[in-house]
Amino acid sequence: MTFHVLIIGGGIAGPVTAMALREAGIRSTVYEAYDQAADGVGAFLGLAPNGLHALRVLGLDEPVRSAGFDSPGLRLTLSGGRTLLETSFTGTRADALPPITIKRADLYATLRDEAIRRGVDIVYGKRLVGAESNETGVVARFADGTTAEGDLLIGADGLQSRVRQLIDPASPAPRYVPFLNTGGFAEGVRVDVPLGTTRMMFGRRAFFGYTPAPDGSVWWFANPAQRQELSRAELDTISSEQWRARLLDLFDGDDPVASELIRATPVIPPCWATYDFPSAPLWHRDRLLIIGDAAHATSPSSGQGASMALEDAVELARCLRDLPDHTRAFAAYEGFRRERVERIVATGKRNGSQKGLGRIGRMLLPVIFKVLPKPDLNWMYDYRSPWDAPASV
Ligand SMILES: Cc1cc2nc3c(=O)[nH]c(=O)nc-3n(C[C@H](O)[C@H](O)[C@H](O)COP(=O)(O)OP(=O)(O)OC[C@H]3O[C@@H](n4cnc5c(N)ncnc54)[C@H](O)[C@@H]3O)c2cc1C
Repeated sequence: MTFHVLIIGGGIAGPVTAMALREAGIRSTVYEAYDQAADGVGAFLGLAPNGLHALRVLGLDEPVRSAGFDSPGLRLTLSGGRTLLETSFTGTRADALPPITIKRADLYATLRDEAIRRGVDIVYGKRLVGAESNETGVVARFADGTTAEGDLLIGADGLQSRVRQLIDPASPAPRYVPFLNTGGFAEGVRVDVPLGTTRMMFGRRAFFGYTPAPDGSVWWFANPAQRQELSRAELDTISSEQWRARLLDLFDGDDPVASELIRATPVIPPCWATYDFPSAPLWHRDRLLIIGDAAHATSPSSGQGASMALEDAVELARCLRDLPDHTRAFAAYEGFRRERVERIVATGKRNGSQKGLGRIGRMLLPVIFKVLPKPDLNWMYDYRSPWDAPASV
């Protein structure tokens, strides 16, 4: 197919789709709403072996891995330090790349720089507001009054996707998950886990996690419970020092490492609300299709949102490469992806619900972890994007 594809969104799925399409011999242009690639919310994130494999298909694993660090291990504890579980996120396959932890801004910048280096056209300051699709092509309309014409339009425009609304005005809104996220980079604190291990702790009032980085800093996150949804504007009215005070209060009485890390962090970013998006009824209509968070956002508790966006990018390019027209390519793409991504969103929801356990739930944790079989999550990590196999319907 000799398409020109308009890709909306220059986050994770957008630039990687453009690079995958390029490998497939298909031309594309990425349109990003912000003036530079948005570094988005979230100080850092984890990339799992399945996501790293999708990057490897495109020769992107090395640049991305060198911008982060390997972090395969997990130690899950109670608030006082008692270990509930020690495990790794590597899956069972011999070809697995160890999971990494990476600053979100570094991941975005690495993908953007690599896309530009490979000749991908990324246009900034282009917020999509509308699109018209007919038998011969699609026209994208941007907030600055300009337009762009192409053969297909791919919405890689994240959780609040405009393209999703254009495909299906009746599509449900993202679902609020009742805890907040914040985190930061602490300096000068020695912690009790080695490089490569993340400790996560069921604090008495909130969930906390941290991992030491190679430069001696410690990267941490916290998930304060928040039943009532607060808007971005409401969250932004709370200053860094107010957040620090709230967090210190929340972790008072837990293992003191949490408070030490919070104190040793120069700036606490404003908390952000958590959402997921379990199932978009329509992924495509006419010449428009959504991928990544636009189609299926998971709460951070699965650690898979970015990895799924990377898998999507590779799979979509494979389908457009191998199938004779976009109608069949879109249908095949949805067939290959929907069950897997929705299962991962459901897993993220389940993991997240454990973060808000009350006192009795937390008291039962040692029994639960001792008696119940450990959930097998290797189906997530062991998946490999089948780039070399021809896609067929
Ligand atoms: C707190 C937090 C922690 C997380 N932790 C992890 C983790 O550990 N592991 C993991 O795998 N995932 C994690 N995730 C999820 C992960 O960040 C997302 O799944 C991933 O960023 C999705 O990539 P995307 O490209 O689909 O969307 P995004 O990265 O959100 O990119 C969308 C892009 O589209 C642009 N855009 C939006 N609207 C328009 C428009 N109308 N026109 C043009 N451009 C537009 C945006 O500016 C943005 O650049 C976390 C998320 C959060 C919030």
